[in-house]
Amino acid sequence: MTEPGPLAVALRGLCPRCGARSLFKGFAAFAPNCRACGLDLSAFDVGDGPAAFLTLIVGAAITGLAIALELSLEPPWWVHVLLWLPLSIAAVLGSLRIAKGLLLALEYRQRTPELEVGRKP
Ligand SMILES: [Zn+2]
Repeated sequence: MTEPGPLAVALRGLCPRCGARSLFKGFAAFAPNCRACGLDLSAFDVGDGPAAFLTLIVGAAITGLAIALELSLEPPWWVHVLLWLPLSIAAVLGSLRIAKGLLLALEYRQRTPELEVGRKP
């Protein structure tokens, strides 16, 4: 059992303690605890805080792409709907999952020393 790095936790949905793929129960929702080692994942309250922030970034990026496409190819309006709507949703959900995994992994790393030491000299 080796602890995976924060990036591996985030990108592959791994448990930050044992490395099992047990971090998520839904697409971007954490499982209450790790199926493999029993780590209490509900203790890490990352929440959906990054969601609004990510939506703004993704929105700005998609708007830029849409304007570039319109100016270069001038496609019919429904091309924009078919292209940007699913792409926006996928980009927000995908980045939300990674951001939440990363936050949990970093919080786990910060917490672990105090759990293991637990006493002051
Ligand atoms: Zn685990």
